[in-house]
This record gives sequence, structure tokens and C-alpha cells, in this order.
Amino acid sequence: MLFSGIYGQQIVKDKLLCFIKNKNVPPALVFNGPQGCGKFPLAIAFARILLCKNVGDIDACGECSSCLKVDKLTHPDLHVIYPLFENDRIGENTESTDLANHFRTLYAQNVHMEYEDWLEYIRPVSKSGIISRGQCANLITKIYMSSYEGGYKIVVFWVADLLGDSANLFLKILEDPPPKTLFIFLSKSLEKILSTVLSRCILIPVPPFTDEDISEWYKRENLLSENHENFVRFSMGNIYLAGLCLKSHEVNHTNIFISFIRISYKNSTSELVQWLDEIIKYNRGVILLLLDYSMKVIRNIFLSNMGFTAYNSLSEEELEFSNKFSKYVSDTSFRKYIEAFSLASKQIQSNANIKIVFHCLFFKLHKIISDINH
Ligand SMILES: [Zn+2]
Repeated sequence: MLFSGIYGQQIVKDKLLCFIKNKNVPPALVFNGPQGCGKFPLAIAFARILLCKNVGDIDACGECSSCLKVDKLTHPDLHVIYPLFENDRIGENTESTDLANHFRTLYAQNVHMEYEDWLEYIRPVSKSGIISRGQCANLITKIYMSSYEGGYKIVVFWVADLLGDSANLFLKILEDPPPKTLFIFLSKSLEKILSTVLSRCILIPVPPFTDEDISEWYKRENLLSENHENFVRFSMGNIYLAGLCLKSHEVNHTNIFISFIRISYKNSTSELVQWLDEIIKYNRGVILLLLDYSMKVIRNIFLSNMGFTAYNSLSEEELEFSNKFSKYVSDTSFRKYIEAFSLASKQIQSNANIKIVFHCLFFKLHKIISDINH
């Protein structure tokens, strides 16, 4: 990906280009920002400029053999380090490179891929991935050797937050790095990175994207849909979430919502457990849309109870449900429903545990409904 192909993030891009213009690229950078702010594509685009054989003033050429290899993550002087897991497919001594092809495939599908995608792909027994000391020691040996193509050697730690104590191994090389070496640590939570490592790096904060950037991304990727504005709103600057939202078309929100209300009405925790097992298969984007849809239906019922004609756009199934449920939507309960669903939506956006969020919502809905019954 070219620098110019990255949406927004102008301040970050300017800062990085400034290093190149001044011929003063620091040996170690930490890109710190939340999920979906494009840290990885930024790191790769920056690496591409440094490795390009025909670099221009503000970007890589995009055509030379180096650029093409960086695009595919196959450049021998670009080392992308990602977490591995201990399970029956991946032994303790497995090298990061053994899974390189799979990682490249995921990257080719989505440059904004996240750790969740990697987990989904590997399906490890234990979900605690690590960057092992073995991986790090091996990498350090490679960095001390001369580069394959005579230029920079660049290491990108895709999820540096999982380096743990292995990061200690880098203290010496960060203190006195070989020439033309660049380490880029990508981090969501700086507190997870050893302070001794942080103090040897230049910190580059990467903010979430703006709504305009996300909107522009949908346009340029030809991903516009009728829900486009909702998707931009849900994403809250998280381009990964914006992508997930698009995968929600095949989901029948009506059925899922009606079952949830029925289960909450009956206060049936056993059915809730089954319902949650289904829900958990969906991504967060789909779940956010479900919560938004739920609020829309309840709002429609409320408006209708107030004498407004809000039923026009409802399907037969929604209309039948709305007729049955309307007695549970009063002035007071309406506000409580919306508060409960809005809170759940905010919690999901902040990566809260989906099952816990819906358990709380289930208890709240049951309380609101039973208060009306009594
Ligand atoms: Zn090039």
C-alpha cells in the first residue's frame, strides 16, 4: 500500500515523511493507537518507502521489485512478527515464518486485519498468543547479519503488546542498533510494553480515523450500501469495525431480536444460553447493527402508541411482533429500553465481552417488562 493510499492520518504521515526528508529515520518507533486506526498499513507503507529502489519525494514508486515484494510481505529485509500459539498444530519451537503464507493470505484479503482474524484462522486451544523468546532471538540474529538487498532491515511487531518479557532481548540492539535498521512496534496499550523498551523508541500516536475518512474509505473501496451512514456512525473511527459491518447483510435481525425479547420476557436463562451461542458467532459489526435495529423497532412501537403512523415500513413479522409488544412500551419503559440498548451498544463498541453485555441486557429487559406486568 502506498502512503497516498492510506485514508486520512495526515499528521502521522507528515511526521514519518519528515524523518525521511531529513534523512533521520529513528531506529525504533512505537505506533500507538486503538483498534482499526490503520497502524499496520501505515507501518508497511512506511517500510515500502524505505525499501523502494526508485523512491520519489513523498512516496514509494509502487512498481519496483522491492515495492511489489513489500506489498506481498515477501521482502527478505522486511520482518513482520506476529504472535504464535501453543497447540497441536503449532509447536513451541515453531518459527513465525512457518505460518508466513497464512499471514500473507489474511493480509492480502484485508490490510486492516486484526488479531481477532488471526485467532479465527489459527483457532488455537489457548487464546493467549505470545511472541516467544525463541522467535525474538532468531530475529536478532538475522538483524545482525547484512541485509539481503543492501538497504534497510525493517522489523514490524504486529501486536507488540504480546511481546511481554521477550522484549528484554531487544534492549541491547535498540541501544546500539546496526546501521539502517528500523524497529516498528504496533501497540494498542503502551502499559503492556516494557518501559525500558519504550524509553528507547520514538512514540508516534495514531488517532482513530474521522467519520469522513471512513466514509471516504467506503466510497473508494466501492463498499457503499444503504446502511452506509449507520456503519460510519457505529465504526467510531475504527476501519476494521467498518469492514465488519458490511458482512451483516445475510443476518436476520428480526428473528434474532424477537427471540431475545421473548426469552427476556420468559426470564429463561437456559434459552438465553442457547441464543448467546448463536449470537457469539457473529462479529461485533453485526451485533451493533442488531442493537441499533432493536432500538428502531422499539422506537417505532412507541411512536405508534403515541398516535404517529410509524408502522408503514415494517415487515409482516415486525408488525405482528409490534402489535403484541406495544402494551409493554409506555412513556417510561420506552426510555429505559433505549437506555439499556444504547449502553449495550457502547459497551460492544469498547470491546466488552459480548456474552456479559447481553446477560446484563437480558436482566434489564426482564425487569422493565415485569414492572409493567405488575
Ligand atoms: Zn519502488
